[in-house]
Amino acid sequence: MTATSPVRVNLLGLPRAELEAFFTGLGEKPFRARQVMKWIYKQGVGDFEQMTDLAKPLRERLAQCAEIATPEIALTQVSGDGTRKWLLNVERTGVDLARGQEGRAPSATVADRTSASEPPGTDSRRSRKALDLPASGQAIEMVYIPEPDRGTLCISSQVGCALDCTFCSTAQQGFNRNLTAAEIVGQVWLANRELGWSAGENRPVTNVVFMGMGEPLANYRNVLPSMQIMLDDLGFDLSRRRVTLSTSGLVPQILRMSEDCNVALAVSLHAPNDALRNQLVPINRKHPIRELLEACWLYLERQNGRSITFEYVMLDGVNDSETHARELVELLRGREAKVNLIPFNPFPGTHYRRSRPEAISRFRDLLNANGVIATTRRTRGDDIDAACGQLVGRVHDRTTVRLGKKLISVAVEA
Ligand code: SAH
Repeated sequence: MTATSPVRVNLLGLPRAELEAFFTGLGEKPFRARQVMKWIYKQGVGDFEQMTDLAKPLRERLAQCAEIATPEIALTQVSGDGTRKWLLNVERTGVDLARGQEGRAPSATVADRTSASEPPGTDSRRSRKALDLPASGQAIEMVYIPEPDRGTLCISSQVGCALDCTFCSTAQQGFNRNLTAAEIVGQVWLANRELGWSAGENRPVTNVVFMGMGEPLANYRNVLPSMQIMLDDLGFDLSRRRVTLSTSGLVPQILRMSEDCNVALAVSLHAPNDALRNQLVPINRKHPIRELLEACWLYLERQNGRSITFEYVMLDGVNDSETHARELVELLRGREAKVNLIPFNPFPGTHYRRSRPEAISRFRDLLNANGVIATTRRTRGDDIDAACGQLVGRVHDRTTVRLGKKLISVAVEA
């Protein structure tokens, strides 16, 4: 970093049009954007010096005013099933010159709602993890799930989450800030590199799902450009079916996205009626099921999509009865919908239990027998706390004592 340019623009966060504008702003031709995108995404190059089709003075100038910076890896864990989880430090990367500073403190209401109710837990894995790490710096998690025919990267969109779904451990961490577009794109770039990809080969990351920490639609202004870069043929060149955004149901943003971007949509439904969903997914009180489903069908229509995936976490004795299954059939029958049943993944302090395997199969079979396609998600990476809803990262909020106390209580749970 030079004295003349204290903050450099992270080019990873700029979709093609913005990168062209960046070069125009430097007095360069817009086609420089294409050249640089090819280096960054097709060659995996993160150093301007190696971009040999740019004149040397331009390379030097870029090195002064721009950068290609990803979050830093703080910890890598590999599960017995090959799933890989990275803890990523985002302390240094939280400034986005294109879209403004993201690293602001959360509002008091968001910070104050961290659960005083969570009793000291007994799980040792997360405590060890917390104790082993330096206790500073915001951190997020991303997970790579290899399968014979694809490699799925589950990425985070926020440091923590403010939506407070009662069965999700990220929610227990509270919310600190939105990730910048560069931090979101940087996860995909970094994962490919860490998985040993080199130019000319097929990338190990063939699918991206926004199912890590955070509510992606609550960070729309950064998630949208990141998705544009994932889909761009000069970017990661992923097909629209291979990028999935999962949302707890922010209706206005689903409607916005139906005009802005074409990716696969997954919706965290988790309950077939408003009374129960109000408890499990509190945003339902603002956007009830009917409104949510209408937005979903409109999204499909506008984006000419194939179907929407409805995620449904299986909680023993809470939402897994035959009556619940029948209610769900009523909501979804005849629609372009698939239900993905997710066996609940426990975390310290939760009072929920995973549904019994027979209950999950019965629920699934009842849906299928009544014309609603349903599958059960195979749990991956749970030995390293990498399964759905287990991602916690490291969410610090130095502005409130209560969240501070909460984090200390996580660290001493043993
Ligand atoms: N905020 C987004 C992404 C969340 S994570 C959303 O709500 O969709 C992806 C999925 O994992 C969501 O369906 C989420 O509800 C689910 N999930 C959260 N906690 C879970 C847990 N403990 N066990 C199983 N699934 C969980």
